[in-house]
Amino acid sequence: MRPGRRPSANLGGMDGERKAGGVTQAAQALQALADSLRDCTRCGLCGGRTQVVFGVGSPVAELMFVGEGPGFHEDTQGEPFVGQAGKLLTELLGGIGLGRRDVYIANVVKCRPPENRDPAPDEIEACSPHLMDQMAIIRPRVVCTLGRFATKLLADTELSMTAIHGKAKQRTLAGVDVVVFPVFHPAAALYAPANRQVLVQDFAKLRRLLELGAEALTPAGLADAIAASEVSPHEGAKPGGAGQVRPSGDAEGKPRPVAARTEQLPLW
Ligand code: SF4
Repeated sequence: MRPGRRPSANLGGMDGERKAGGVTQAAQALQALADSLRDCTRCGLCGGRTQVVFGVGSPVAELMFVGEGPGFHEDTQGEPFVGQAGKLLTELLGGIGLGRRDVYIANVVKCRPPENRDPAPDEIEACSPHLMDQMAIIRPRVVCTLGRFATKLLADTELSMTAIHGKAKQRTLAGVDVVVFPVFHPAAALYAPANRQVLVQDFAKLRRLLELGAEALTPAGLADAIAASEVSPHEGAKPGGAGQVRPSGDAEGKPRPVAARTEQLPLW
């Protein structure tokens, strides 16, 4: 988390330090980067792609998602996470009061691997500087890695997703202090309801992380979360229950999410 930066309930990605011209500047920088990659031949994936799938969302998002690579639909449409897994990601975002335009969504590799195979280490190595360039422009506070490839790269870990999903790790990536928060890839939940429920619970934690920032990782943050909570301790982790975000009004009467009463977010 950036030093001295208070977490904000404004999850549209515009905190005070970036409001003045920052959005336009970041959008222009991202566009210039996207333009520079349009004909990229840095790895072999360039041969099979329809187009480079750069990324989409707020140029100053506080929350950035990083998946694995484009699939058939993404390659065709030029946007990440637009197939069935993308639909689930959009639903999960909606469940915590966010839309796709509130966040930024990108992938570890920006061209579709043939037959949707896993990206090879040399392809990840070739493409990851592009991801770092995106991150340096967007400067997110939280990077949610979707699945093992993004998690391995950005959390620098060999641990399994089962061991570390829903836990937080503080890192500096592309010169930006971020909290990396791994969750299962939405594709893993399409045919496994149990994984879907795990994702719902991890997204509830993610929301709390956005609200509290690094404080969510401390016992003091836990106390704050409980004090701020409007959720009954008897409610379960179900839609509208504990672990879910509930709107309340801020000083201007706008809906504002409140922290859910859950355990302190674990580090690893
Ligand atoms: S995957 Fe990345 S490095 Fe490889 S060709 Fe595409 S944009 Fe370039």
